Amino acid sequence: MAIDFSFSPEVEDIRLQIRSFMQDEVAPRAAEVEGDDGDREAYIRVIVELRKEAYQKGFWLPHMPEEWGGMGLGPTALAAVSAEAAKVRIGPYVLNCQAPDEGNMHTLLHFGTEAQKENYLRPLCEGRMRSCFSMTEPEVAGSDPTLIQTRAEQDGDEWVINGHKWFTSGARGAHFAIVIACTNPEAEIPQARNTAFIVHTDSEGFELVRDVETMAGGHNHCEIRYTDVRVGKDAILGELGGGHKLGQVRLGPARLAHCMRWIGQIEMALEMLLARAQSRFAHGSYLSDKQGIQWMMADSARELYAAKLMVLHSAYKIEQGLDFKQEVSMAKHHVANTLWRVVDRAMQVHGALGYSTDTPLAGMLQQARWSRFADGADEVHQFRTAELLMKAYNDTGSINAGVGGLPI
Ligand SMILES: Cc1cc2nc3c(=O)[nH]c(=O)nc-3n(C[C@H](O)[C@H](O)[C@H](O)COP(=O)(O)OP(=O)(O)OC[C@H]3O[C@@H](n4cnc5c(N)ncnc54)[C@H](O)[C@@H]3O)c2cc1C
Repeated sequence: MAIDFSFSPEVEDIRLQIRSFMQDEVAPRAAEVEGDDGDREAYIRVIVELRKEAYQKGFWLPHMPEEWGGMGLGPTALAAVSAEAAKVRIGPYVLNCQAPDEGNMHTLLHFGTEAQKENYLRPLCEGRMRSCFSMTEPEVAGSDPTLIQTRAEQDGDEWVINGHKWFTSGARGAHFAIVIACTNPEAEIPQARNTAFIVHTDSEGFELVRDVETMAGGHNHCEIRYTDVRVGKDAILGELGGGHKLGQVRLGPARLAHCMRWIGQIEMALEMLLARAQSRFAHGSYLSDKQGIQWMMADSARELYAAKLMVLHSAYKIEQGLDFKQEVSMAKHHVANTLWRVVDRAMQVHGALGYSTDTPLAGMLQQARWSRFADGADEVHQFRTAELLMKAYNDTGSINAGVGGLPI
């Protein structure tokens, strides 16, 4: 039997070490400085101190290979570590595996020239720089990058970028942005219109317009105008016209990395639901004795179980170099929706307490809402899943390759 659902003792050991580090050291320090009225300087100081500690313990860059200073875990072990780290909001920052830097590191590792790796990837890995990814535009549907209007035009040895972006997460404080711009609007294949550029955020013409206020407040999701921003040809990341492909390569593992972190959040919400239901008494018994509440528990357990299997199987496919598009799409849709439903159920069971900001649930629900449309809206993943399912059936006469390609 080749199917084995356990990790090696080494990986299990690291997972438990990360769990203890998060529970015993990161969570209490985060609780001291988190909250809307918190002192931002104190918050950053705590993150910097915890990062040093994480680095010294070897809990650094779980997603990167060892030659870049990472833990060299591989995608499946990464799932275990990321889920533990995400149980504390600042956990991924402490391990230097937060979005969007984590996705940008993958992108630079995959597509960067040697010089780009030295100038951008190395400082990111060493925690000396931060970055952002600037693709979505307010004027056109972010779900369809072939519509991107930001233009990059060649002028001698330089490229001149003009455009308008928003929801460029992490832009405030970032040293550079990976900007997706249209370089050839006439390209026969729409997917060959765009190119990725590395743009320094202190370049002339880079204007950070505002931190877009969201239903969860301001979280550094910025609106940016690019006006005659000039970059050299060495700023092109990957191939000319390869921006769409780069986005897809970046987004596959990055989507799954989101799912790994969401699993940690789902687990935390379900544990809170159980604790509350077993301690809150109403109408003659504990909430946990009532069938309506037990159904919430059972539904959440079943959905979380499926979420974990999907994430691990997708990670396995990435690790084995197998095609993972269908699995990651289905996982992204399922895990995002499970996150939304389980956090909502936990809030329901907590009543007014859940709606208050005395527990993390209110903040978790706000974050859970965007998971259903960022990095591919539910409906986009659904139509892609249906397309690949039909392709599998039409090419082979079987749906198997469209439903995970499992040996049953
Ligand atoms: C918290 C957060 C962080 C983000 N960070 C970044 C970032 O760092 N960099 C970046 O570039 N972008 C970022 N984004 C933007 C995100 O990637 C986009 O929101 C996403 O791609 C969807 O694009 P849109 O918002 O323009 O929605 P639209 O593309 O306008 O879609 C709106 C809705 O239309 C429906 N829809 C779209 N296409 C179809 C279809 N084919 N079939 C059926 N229904 C469809 C879906 O219901 C979808 O939710 C972030 C967004 C959020 C909320």
